[in-house]
Amino acid sequence: MKTVFEKLPATAFLLGEQPVDKATVYRRASFCVVTKVGDTYIAYNTLTKELAELDLREADALEAESVIFSPEYEQLIRGYFLVPQNHDDKKLCDGVTVFARSAYRGSAYRRFTVFTTTDCNARCFYCYERGIKHMDMCDDTARRVADFIVRASEGEAVSITWYGGEPLMNTSAMDIISSALSAAGVEYTSMMATNASLFDDALIKKAVDLWHTDRVQITLDGTREVYDRIKAYSDRESGFEMVLSNIQKLLDCGIKVNIRLNVGGHNIADMHALTNLLADRFGGRRGLNVYAALLFDECEWASRGSTDCDRYELAKEIIKIEDIAAERGILHPKKLYRTVSHCFCKADAEDALVITAEGKIVKCDFFTDSRFVGDVESGIDEEKLQDSRLLYSRRIECGGCMAYPICLRLAACPTGGCDDARKFMTEERLVRSVRYLYASAREKR
Ligand code: SF4
Ligand code: SF4
Repeated sequence: MKTVFEKLPATAFLLGEQPVDKATVYRRASFCVVTKVGDTYIAYNTLTKELAELDLREADALEAESVIFSPEYEQLIRGYFLVPQNHDDKKLCDGVTVFARSAYRGSAYRRFTVFTTTDCNARCFYCYERGIKHMDMCDDTARRVADFIVRASEGEAVSITWYGGEPLMNTSAMDIISSALSAAGVEYTSMMATNASLFDDALIKKAVDLWHTDRVQITLDGTREVYDRIKAYSDRESGFEMVLSNIQKLLDCGIKVNIRLNVGGHNIADMHALTNLLADRFGGRRGLNVYAALLFDECEWASRGSTDCDRYELAKEIIKIEDIAAERGILHPKKLYRTVSHCFCKADAEDALVITAEGKIVKCDFFTDSRFVGDVESGIDEEKLQDSRLLYSRRIECGGCMAYPICLRLAACPTGGCDDARKFMTEERLVRSVRYLYASAREKR
């Protein structure tokens, strides 16, 4: 075994080396990924973050159901790639995660999701905000939001996610908050979840100069006809070309663009064409990244329509589409960060808050009319925040999943737990990232 990336210092310190017991029968740890790049077998430990090249015997040992100790496997055992048959992998992962959470220090909030409005000019049938009251953040509230962010960030740099609805339906809130943060000397960057149909040259310039936007996430549902049918814009017949042109302009201005392909039974047939269209138009463009997402209660929608739903089949198609996107240079595998994961999303992150259009504070952007933990006027209600911490502290049971120490999905996430489809996609993407990590390391040698 030849180490390419050492264990993280934190996991090396916490776990040390696993003792070797010559009388023990071993098996591959659930948090060990084995794959091949070219002719080379590699193993990645998602708990310790060690990446290693393997010889053939070591690769065989990790593929076997069980292995009896042999001196050749000593490094695999010491590095927690092989663990005793009866080892509790989940307990070990949980211990490391708990330590990482407790090591988190600081009272400042640094990540804010701000709902500028709950209104939207699109009417996607799958939008989870359908049926909720439409309202814009008023200018007074925007000023209070800025004051709150100044107080809560305690002099630290902040990142803001402009959210909605369609955040560009209320640019005034973004202007007020950004100007106030600048005036108060708060360093900030922002990203935006937008359909991008409302951008024009002046707004793109403002995004760069005033809102300090360095990233946008734009959802595409298909090629022109499918896209326009699903988006069902209230203010235009077609938004497809406008959005593609705005993607180009955003990239030209140095704003990174993540394109999220929302996939379900209703549009899967169109996704290959869309991927190829995007690759023809944007392939090789710096700052562009495409990924696909399986609509989370696709089966429920499908049962209302005529589409047969098999989430697992959809998941397999999604991975194929992503593979094509990667080959054509518009998808970059997710980075495997050299840190211990300790949270899943903003709901269980200690430094993140969500601010509604009314100035209420919540932890999860799915719940904007309940589960408040404070408001921008009176600040955080510590008792309610503690309740929220408890609610979002429980993870779903993920025994045996190689992604577990990274994924950490919450039991209380309203988008549901994990099923075979989700697990398949997560594991496939993880393997893709491992291969990419190794290939990049090899290039640098
Ligand atoms: S992919 Fe699913 S099973 Fe695996 S860690 Fe994430 S939530 Fe758990
Ligand atoms: S709990 Fe689920 S819906 Fe809420 S912020 Fe986290 S991932 Fe999003």
